[in-house]
Amino acid sequence: MKVVKFGGSSLANGPAIKQVLSIVKSDQERRVIVVSAPGKRNDDDIKVTDLLIRYANSVLEGRDYTAILNAIYQRYQEIGEYFHLPAEKLQEIRQILTKLAEKHYPNADYLLAAFKAYGEYLNARLITAIMNHVGIKTRFLSPRDVGLIVTGEPNNALVNPEAYLNLAQVKLNPDEKIVFPGFFGISPSGHIATFSRGGSDITGAILARGFKADLYENFTDVDAIYSANPKIVDHPRPIKKMTYREMRELSYAGFSVFHDEALIPTIQGQIPVNVKNTQHPEKEGTWIVPEAGFRPEHVVTGVAGGTNFCALYLHKYLLNQVPGFTLGVLQVLQRHNISYEHMPSAIDDITIIFKKDYLNAQLIDQICDEIQKSVSPDQMRWIDDYAITMVVGEGMKDKLSLCASILAPLGKKDISIQMINQGSSQISIMIGTRRNQAKEVISTIYQNFLA
Ligand code: ASP
Repeated sequence: MKVVKFGGSSLANGPAIKQVLSIVKSDQERRVIVVSAPGKRNDDDIKVTDLLIRYANSVLEGRDYTAILNAIYQRYQEIGEYFHLPAEKLQEIRQILTKLAEKHYPNADYLLAAFKAYGEYLNARLITAIMNHVGIKTRFLSPRDVGLIVTGEPNNALVNPEAYLNLAQVKLNPDEKIVFPGFFGISPSGHIATFSRGGSDITGAILARGFKADLYENFTDVDAIYSANPKIVDHPRPIKKMTYREMRELSYAGFSVFHDEALIPTIQGQIPVNVKNTQHPEKEGTWIVPEAGFRPEHVVTGVAGGTNFCALYLHKYLLNQVPGFTLGVLQVLQRHNISYEHMPSAIDDITIIFKKDYLNAQLIDQICDEIQKSVSPDQMRWIDDYAITMVVGEGMKDKLSLCASILAPLGKKDISIQMINQGSSQISIMIGTRRNQAKEVISTIYQNFLA
């Protein structure tokens, strides 16, 4: 049995959904279909999820929301009319959308989460109706129906292990398809909470694990996952097959095709993932598979970079002999509820790398102040434009001189390396540079190892 997930661009309008139906029909094993909200129909379009965020904000601020409500409804109406759905089905959608503003929510965060989730909820209802209308026996199931319990923040939820126990109880019928809305789950107190943006991938992975699927097919709008960002490298090589951990490291550093959190359930369930293009379903796409038995075709599988980082550099002579130095720094971060990404260290210095999203100027000043007071470093520097490049490949293991051959060409191009770090799994090397040199790092490594 296969769990199949379709992204927003694959469900943006009637013709796109017609293509999705032909993919679903062409393989009996494609039994569970996870859907996103309708995405962009063209570059200037707005995703339904973003329209719903505007709707939520208008409600919260007490502004008139008629226009935005109509714009959202029109997206579903356009799809329904393409398939000649009876008018009352569409009226139902309109009513549900209108009622959203009248419901009571525990707070503004839960309100926002619920509004966002309705993008996928309504799309799943609509697609179920369309499939039955065109003669494909289909049942709608929602996170509430199956006990997909999540905890954590309302707009950044995490799956609760209980969800898997609940999913194991769900009876799937071989002669009917299931359509399931992605992106959200239900909190222990019964409220809607969403995963982070792009989180329908996560729902697909949870269902694949929970239903013990043989395969998780993730349909998107590219033929494959590429070995480098096509915006930086011209026609990069597609990746045919890679391991879970290669994908995790690459997606962490900027590969956005498949959500990095979505890999965890598939790893836990050891379910292979196949990323494919809805427009070209005959193409093989990219396989993401367990490590056992994997034979790498190349030394380096991919190179990815993220530029949304900043770092704190701390220097203190004999730091290696000061017990509790790092603890003092981490306590300051903990007090402010800040997590860090990496902390490479040497005898006299450490660098702490952060994602920029969690910080602002005031917070930075405050933590620097407190760290100064708590551990009195000899030198402290804030680096605001940090970039991280990850070079990843199962084939990199045990290649002792590889690091030198990666760095030498960068040196020749006068790229100043701020930090290098080899992961303990030995399948990745992380390179820290200033942001303005990040693209050059990626294209140089690509030319030398992947072209
Ligand atoms: N619709 C949601 C978003 O735009 C989730 C998803 O598409 O996966 O983030």
